[in-house]
Amino acid sequence: MGLTKKDLKFFEDLLNEKKEKLLQELGNLEASTVGKNPLEQSGDLSGYAYHLADQAADAMDREHAFAMASRESRYLLYLNEALDRIQEGTFGMCKKCKKVPHTKNPDSPWITRQRLEAVPTATLCIWHKAESDATKQVKDKD
Ligand SMILES: [Zn+2]
Repeated sequence: MGLTKKDLKFFEDLLNEKKEKLLQELGNLEASTVGKNPLEQSGDLSGYAYHLADQAADAMDREHAFAMASRESRYLLYLNEALDRIQEGTFGMCKKCKKVPHTKNPDSPWITRQRLEAVPTATLCIWHKAESDATKQVKDKD
């Protein structure tokens, strides 16, 4: 069965929309963390202790912001890959079902539309995803 041209257009728009929003967020993160120097900004040394405390808080914010930024840039990569798959015509296919169809997937190798709407960057059907999550959890316990 798979996806129609209309479906693909829908997901292309959805992915581009998410990408734009993400790029905006990443832009905001950069603007709020890069080049921030309260001393330079105020030109006033009397509030030095205050600024130190402020900088400590800033450092924490920065760490948080960087953690967020790296998570988001990874997501950006996934979005770009999904957009590539739309161009290639492989969008919406489970990469594992392509090799060995999952017995529980009635529409193999296709990922259900419902799942794609929730996770448009998905490369695995829910059945294979569940299996790979299960293996990952075992590994992570180590
Ligand atoms: Zn699958």
